[in-house]
Amino acid sequence: MSAQTVAPSPAVESFIAREHRLFIGGDWVSVSTSASLAVFNPATGEQIATVVNGDAQAVERAVSAAHAAFESGVWSSLLPAERERILLRFADLVEASNEEIAQIETLNQGKSINIARMIDAGAAPSYMRYVAGLATKIRGETFDVSIGAIPGARYTAYTRREPIGVVAAIAPWNFPMLIALWKIMPALAAGCTVVLKPSEVTPLTALRLAELAAEAGVPAGVLNVVTGDGKTGATLVSDPRVSKVTFTGSTATGKAIARIAADRMLRTSLELGGKNPAIFLKDAPLDRAVPGALMGSFFNNGQVCAASSRIYVAREIYSDFLDMLSGAVSGMTLGAGLDPTAQINPLVSAGHQAKVFDHIQRARSDGAKVVAGGERPDRPGYYVQPTVLTDADPSHSISRDEVFGPVVTVTLFHDEEEALRLANDTNMGLTASLWTNDLQKTLDYVPRIKAGTVWVNTHNFIDPNMPFGGYKESGLGREFGIDALDGVTELKSVCLAH
Ligand code: NAD
Repeated sequence: MSAQTVAPSPAVESFIAREHRLFIGGDWVSVSTSASLAVFNPATGEQIATVVNGDAQAVERAVSAAHAAFESGVWSSLLPAERERILLRFADLVEASNEEIAQIETLNQGKSINIARMIDAGAAPSYMRYVAGLATKIRGETFDVSIGAIPGARYTAYTRREPIGVVAAIAPWNFPMLIALWKIMPALAAGCTVVLKPSEVTPLTALRLAELAAEAGVPAGVLNVVTGDGKTGATLVSDPRVSKVTFTGSTATGKAIARIAADRMLRTSLELGGKNPAIFLKDAPLDRAVPGALMGSFFNNGQVCAASSRIYVAREIYSDFLDMLSGAVSGMTLGAGLDPTAQINPLVSAGHQAKVFDHIQRARSDGAKVVAGGERPDRPGYYVQPTVLTDADPSHSISRDEVFGPVVTVTLFHDEEEALRLANDTNMGLTASLWTNDLQKTLDYVPRIKAGTVWVNTHNFIDPNMPFGGYKESGLGREFGIDALDGVTELKSVCLAH
């Protein structure tokens, strides 16, 4: 622990310690049939809170509240500018709560307070304002049509975008509040009502978010929060009054949701896992390339869907690159997220820590070589040493399965065709990066990389104005961008005969 370690504020301590209920219909509600879930501090392994594990009755009450609010028009029939104003106020309140939210996120998720301040809490308001502004930009089009069935008749045709209804928003644990906002903000801007289910391991900031939304003026029943585990999520997805599921999480869970959805043509947006390549061509300057690889692979302790977990390096620079990267990784300091000087923090849960060690162990037994890290630190908390592996065959599970931790494979390539082939040799397709100053190669290779986002000379940077989503098994649909409300609206064609 360094002298700069942050002490949680009394407000944060009392929020975490209070009795947590469900936020349904504008009230904090107890559902006596529901069991409870323990919430832990990953830096110590100690329990810090207890939340409700929402059961079928809890989900039923939340969906009923959301459905009633939608049908009443209390939100969808507001002037778009009124919805925008309330959502902008919501963004202001999130901004004003930056330090409080950051501390809660760090205590619950384990991440660095620097990231929690700058990204989780810090990037949220600008994203929220971008989406709030879309509430006043919902548009249809008019069409000239050529219907000749009734001689002499004339037709006027146009489209309307209408809010889809009750949206189930299911969030993961890596950026708990920020990703919850990615799910709920477009729905709210479009006039939908929402039931949010945060991850069972990181439920706390979603509960604080519910309070801030209510304070901003989001009417009762428009945003409901039900804490709980995967079963709670599956129950929510199965409710016939839910018109849309917006989900971020693992590919396995995304497929389970898609199977439930198929039965009744339920609309889904699925933001799923990644096994993302970073390709370093021979002209990549090492003084930028190695810090870029560190940022791409170890930011948020590697618990980033977009993280570069497979690094491919040109033969000409491979040895220097590997020495520099493994030296930097070996020197990274481990510590609690509240210590702003710590470079690697605990993973989110004991279960995830065990899973990441299993990946490292399996890679070793498959023949990969550990060149940095790989050991379990001798300290309490869910730490994993940042780890660099070489000699991973493309068929090994370490080259194919998402680890979602501070673990990266580094592989030499002889020519750029081989690099592209290796990079695309995956069922996933979320992101990729190409590191070169060669413009011709950049323009040639970008279209050949099968990923929803390709960065050149950077990695892991997203923006509300830049669509984000996956090719292949990394998902369905795109978030962000000016079309963000398309996924939470239905398009209606209207044709008037006159
Ligand atoms: P997860 O799939 O285990 O859980 C995500 C959420 O789904 C949780 O709230 C969980 O309770 C819920 N859930 C679990 N089973 C369910 C079911 N059968 N029906 C409905 N809901 C269910 O994922 P995680 O471990 O929380 O998050 C890590 C994963 O999320 C990684 O695979 C990562 O790549 C992915 N992720 C993707 C993006 C993206 O934008 N593509 C962003 C962040 C994280």
